Amino acid sequence: SQDRETRGFQAEVSRLLHLMVHSLYSNREIFLRELISNASDACDKLRFQALDDDSLMESDPEPWIRLTVNPDAGTLTIADNGIGMSRQDAVDNLGTIARSGTEKFLASLTGDRKKDAQLIGQFGVGFYSAFIVADRVEVFSRRAGEPAEQGVRWESDGQGEFTVETVTREQRGTAVVLHLREDAREFLDAGKVRSVVQQYSDHVAFPILMASEAKAGEEGEQGESEWQTINSATALWQRPRTEVSDEEYQNFYRHISHDFQDALTWSHNKVEGALEYTSLLYVPARAPFDLYHREASRGLKLYVQRVFIMDDAEQFLPMYLRFIKGVIDAPNLPLNVSRELLQDYGPVRKIRAALTKRVLQMLKKLGNDDEQYATFWAQFGEVLKEGIGEDPDNREAIAALLRFPSTEDTAPGAVSLDRYLERAGEGQDKIYYLLADNLDAARNSPHLEVFRKKNIEVLLLTGRVDEWMVNYLDEYQGKKLVNAARGQLDMDDREEEAKAAEQDNPLIERLAASLGDRVTEVRPTGRLVESPACLVLGEDELGPQLRQMLEAAGQ
Ligand code: ADP
Ligand code: MG
Repeated sequence: SQDRETRGFQAEVSRLLHLMVHSLYSNREIFLRELISNASDACDKLRFQALDDDSLMESDPEPWIRLTVNPDAGTLTIADNGIGMSRQDAVDNLGTIARSGTEKFLASLTGDRKKDAQLIGQFGVGFYSAFIVADRVEVFSRRAGEPAEQGVRWESDGQGEFTVETVTREQRGTAVVLHLREDAREFLDAGKVRSVVQQYSDHVAFPILMASEAKAGEEGEQGESEWQTINSATALWQRPRTEVSDEEYQNFYRHISHDFQDALTWSHNKVEGALEYTSLLYVPARAPFDLYHREASRGLKLYVQRVFIMDDAEQFLPMYLRFIKGVIDAPNLPLNVSRELLQDYGPVRKIRAALTKRVLQMLKKLGNDDEQYATFWAQFGEVLKEGIGEDPDNREAIAALLRFPSTEDTAPGAVSLDRYLERAGEGQDKIYYLLADNLDAARNSPHLEVFRKKNIEVLLLTGRVDEWMVNYLDEYQGKKLVNAARGQLDMDDREEEAKAAEQDNPLIERLAASLGDRVTEVRPTGRLVESPACLVLGEDELGPQLRQMLEAAGQ
């Protein structure tokens, strides 16, 4: 037709397509999960927009997702009657990637199939995963509320270009027609498709239908045949905990997070009363590539009375728990709730406080399993530390979740403050730590000599934010945290220091003279055993890490 137009993919899309087809071959059935998830999102969006304008539902108010295999044509079609796309929507959404950090992500890919598959999984593959199994993809769509003549047909072979044209389409919503590659013809088998759906998408909250005979029309048009529902089609979080299997929880996690890996743990709760809500929160096993990007998406999927309201509702958890994935369904929030309203809304603040406690409890429980906790700590420990400064109300609970290497055990996530205190025993009323750039520097520090001599454990703080963090952590369980490299240690070395100070010491005078104003003071000490001298920070002086941070910030 005349208005047919051919366009190039954004360069990032072409690269992603190429790498994805190459790397994800052995995970290829995820394409079905992604396309069903898009169909489900489209139904969610329509239901949400129809709250304001129910004419959008036209005469077709019951959402569905339909799968059709056509062995003769070699196609598998995923159709929905959701929000649909206009021609411009199709160009924008199916030709570009609009995520920050995309460049960096692409640069991090190595060409090693297995590693790349992991990374791509974390990035999220979405619609483009269709090209893992299809050498040609057609998308037919019409946006809800637009006339039938405003339909769009989009087509591409995934090789760098796509075409769009305006078509007439009676059916609202979208149909994605996959022309399957020779080596992906197993997806022409209805039984195979059904089992993949049941494995990955059973919990999708809308009915996923398959034609009982292979007669249904292409493009999800109502054919002659009977449609049969092949998923449970209830919102998983609304089901009682006892009736949901671990596998179902994990599949739901993969659905909302687009992760390839299982979650480490989760917590599913229904709270009744004035502040009624249901939450299902997951701890991933792996940090997303953009954990430290300011604009990275974070937060929960928000539902009100099972109606999807928004993704990334970040008001329900504090920043330092931004790695948590999950769903919150709060039936008493107004359906027209906006991000701005959430920002400063009393009930939301209360839910946030409760969810924060819930997550901290979940992490505490995870801490009973050393191996799992080590995985968690390696991925998210540095982020959790931010909470010590940001969340004074929960400081003690967060502190209980911290892990450090120490002079007793130098593994990165080895020692909790509780374990430290257990080992320290009754007599010791302080928690000693040493700040250093890395573990080697820490271990070789002369500051540790006196502690070794007295057999006192010292935590070795080498994390990026540790110095900032300990500024907010004066004590734990009533025991003061003390920097081993600072001022007077206040151990029983006082006497020795005094003794040393009494002796006339020409060496001290000479050192003081030659160091001049590069040091505040030169004094004899009882804290050294083998080393002749060491640098000590004054009681109120900034440490080197903080000084660097402030200098970098231009202060
Ligand atoms: P994501 O789902 O994470 O946004 P995708 O690559 O899966 O990323 O999809 C890209 C975009 O294409 C979606 O955000 C949506 O706007 C659009 N899209 C994809 N599939 C559909 C569909 N079935 N109906 C309506 N819009 C769709
Ligand atoms: Mg998607």
